[in-house]
Amino acid sequence: MEMICGRLEQIINEEVLEIRGDGRAGSGIVLTMQSIVAMAVEDPTLYVQEWPFFSSARKGAPTRGFLRLSRRPIEKSSEITRPHIAIMMDEGVTTAIDFAEGVPRGSIFILNTTLSPEEAASKFRLSGRIYTIDGDRLAQHFLKKPLGNISVFALLMELIPVFDPRRSRTRLEKILKKRRLPELLVKANGDLFEASLNQARFADCDYARPTDHLASPFGGYGELMPGAQSRLRLSRSNLTSAYARTGFVLQFGDSQNLCNGCGHCIINCPENIIQFHPDPEIGVRVTGADVTNYCKLCHECIAICPKNLFSEVRTAECWKVGPV
Ligand code: SF4
Ligand code: SF4
Repeated sequence: MEMICGRLEQIINEEVLEIRGDGRAGSGIVLTMQSIVAMAVEDPTLYVQEWPFFSSARKGAPTRGFLRLSRRPIEKSSEITRPHIAIMMDEGVTTAIDFAEGVPRGSIFILNTTLSPEEAASKFRLSGRIYTIDGDRLAQHFLKKPLGNISVFALLMELIPVFDPRRSRTRLEKILKKRRLPELLVKANGDLFEASLNQARFADCDYARPTDHLASPFGGYGELMPGAQSRLRLSRSNLTSAYARTGFVLQFGDSQNLCNGCGHCIINCPENIIQFHPDPEIGVRVTGADVTNYCKLCHECIAICPKNLFSEVRTAECWKVGPV
């Protein structure tokens, strides 16, 4: 546990810790993420970013939560596709989505399940540090409902070293009071939180094959009529560069011809604006990106380029408008 905490602390201090959680509407994944935010905002040296993604408003439908945490300003605004921590809140959701999609080998998995870490890793083909906790059973005892979110939150408080698990109960109770939960239920959740501490089992496992859980490339704007995708992308009201951080712009530089033609940036740019031409030696050579209207500075290309050819710079340092 200590080694993992040290690694997470280093990520929070020097990079951005990314957490992604999958559950069903009503399973508490959103409350878990929001509780972490409530803890983080108490520390003025922490930056935090959190948002949920609902597939439908119905109870039981798959729900995904995203959270970024850092001691540095968080510049990314894209979906989290390669999280350091992946949470599976509800086993039922695994028939609909792959909660491990894109998770790099050696990452942390937190699973609300009756399975042991080895059983879960074998069943879902996972490689990394696997934590399992039977949050539903604990909640059944304290709340008379199988809701694993408080146990998962307790485990996160133990793992993420910038939080103090002893203060987390008080903070959690404050959040629940704000949600107008009856006093008795607030106390029962607090008791459940404490009972969940030190209840997780963990193991380092390696069951994922190289082809398992591959991140799927950007799939366009959904099922649209032929031609409608480019109409939508080029519509005047959909200039996605408006989402970019003000005062910054994407820059591409390859004066030493380092581009190896891997194509990762081309496949992963959600706006399809990477510019390239055929190259007899490496297949394709990237020459830049048309940032004029559609680059939202999501950082996908910056994160994925193995040669670090993309960067974000202040607009004042790069007055050029148009292709970079
Ligand atoms: S060019 Fe890079 S930063 Fe801009 S939208 Fe595409 S992937 Fe995102
Ligand atoms: S990701 Fe980098 S190295 Fe690969 S094609 Fe794009 S610019 Fe070239």
